[in-house]
Amino acid sequence: MCDPQVRLETMIKKLKELNFRVTPQRLAVLKILAKSEGHPSVENIFKQVKPNFPTTSLATIYKTVNLLKQIGEVVELDFSEESNRYDGNKPYPHPHLICTECKTIVDPDVATVTELSRELANKTGYKIVNHRLDFFGICPRCQSNS
Ligand SMILES: [Zn+2]
Ligand SMILES: [Zn+2]
Repeated sequence: MCDPQVRLETMIKKLKELNFRVTPQRLAVLKILAKSEGHPSVENIFKQVKPNFPTTSLATIYKTVNLLKQIGEVVELDFSEESNRYDGNKPYPHPHLICTECKTIVDPDVATVTELSRELANKTGYKIVNHRLDFFGICPRCQSNS
């Protein structure tokens, strides 16, 4: 995991450089995304921000998340049957481990992805620019609950 404080500062700096305002409400969203614990959905971020900013709307959160996605500060995990999930802690392609029971998403610490990507490039002549690698399973906590 990257240092959430460093990530927060990086996001703020980038927004300011691009002349976007960092409102207190937006800052609250940034703080959640800097950690991205369990890879939150927009609805989940909304629930966390709402108590402190009662006037906030789901659309506002969505806009902020989308803006960060556009400037490359958040990675979107797109799911066809569930809400999209976001990672602002590691805003670059990396493998994900998804629990099919509780839907928690974690970043497994594996070293072979760079190698795999290099091997693919060598074998196919493609210049690899992105990847999506999802592993599905049942997390230890859900296993002990069943
Ligand atoms: Zn689980
Ligand atoms: Zn992640």
